[in-house]
Amino acid sequence: MKNTEPTDAGRRDFLGKAAATMVAPGVVLHAVAEAEPRREPVSGKVRWGMLIDTTKCADGCRACVDACDRENGLTLQSKPEDEDARKWDQQRAIWIRQVKVRDNLTGRVTGLPVMCQHCEFPPCVDVCPTGASFRRADGIVMVDRHICIGCRYCMMACPYKARSFIHEAVEEKLTLAPRGKGCVESCNFCVHRLDNGKTTTACQDACAKDGHGAIVFGDLRDPGSPVAKALAQHQSTQIRPELKLNTGVRYHGL
Ligand code: SF4
Ligand code: SF4
Repeated sequence: MKNTEPTDAGRRDFLGKAAATMVAPGVVLHAVAEAEPRREPVSGKVRWGMLIDTTKCADGCRACVDACDRENGLTLQSKPEDEDARKWDQQRAIWIRQVKVRDNLTGRVTGLPVMCQHCEFPPCVDVCPTGASFRRADGIVMVDRHICIGCRYCMMACPYKARSFIHEAVEEKLTLAPRGKGCVESCNFCVHRLDNGKTTTACQDACAKDGHGAIVFGDLRDPGSPVAKALAQHQSTQIRPELKLNTGVRYHGL
C-alpha cells in the first residue's frame, strides 16, 4: 500500500517516540525538543517576519550577531594556521551584521542589524540556476545545500549583501545547521527552532536578554502575534523599499 504520510511527519513521529525511550540500560534519552515539532506541512497561512526597533539598538552591541554565530555553529570554525588573518576575517561567513547608516542631509547616524530580509519576491531565488535558493510557503528564504553549486549568482543578486560563501572546509558543524565548503548560506530565521515549535529566534532572545528588546518576531499574518501588533502600532519601513521586494524584515526608526 502506498504510504501517504509525509516523510517529515514520519521522522518526527520517530523522534517523538525516541524521546520516551531508554536507549541503553540506565540511559534515558531525555526530551528531544522542549516544544512540539511542527506536525502540519509548511503553509502560506503563516508568514514569518521581524520588526527591528533601531531606536533600541544599543551602540556597539553585538549580542544578536554573537548569538546567531553560536546558534548556527559559525563559531566552531577557526582560522587554518596557514591562512592570512585579514583574508580570513574578510571571508568568514556572516549571517547578521551590524551596520551604521548616515542621513546625509541631517547627519543622523543609525545603527541596525541586517540579515537576510526574507523577501516575498527574492532576487536570489530568481537567479539561482539549480533551485537551491528557494522560498518556503511560510516566507523563509533558504539555501538547499545539497544542490547549491556555489556559483554565487544569488550573492550578486541580493541587494542587502545578506549571503555568505563558505571558502574553507568546515570540520565542525551542528546537525541543526549543516554547512560545507563551496555553499552559500544566510539567515534562515532560525528555521530549526520554528520547525520544532519554538517561536523566537536566537538574535531576538539575545537582544531581549541584554535588556534591549529591539527585535520582535512572529507570524505577520496573525493579527494577535507580537510582531503584527508591533507593526500595527509603530512606524516601520523596509530597507530599499523602492525595490518592491516586500521584505519580511521591517525596521522602526530608520
Ligand atoms: Fe534573497 Fe537577499 Fe532577499 Fe534574503 S535579502 S531573500 S538573500 S535577495
Ligand atoms: Fe541569525 Fe536566527 Fe537571527 Fe537569522 S533569525 S539573524 S539565523 S539568529
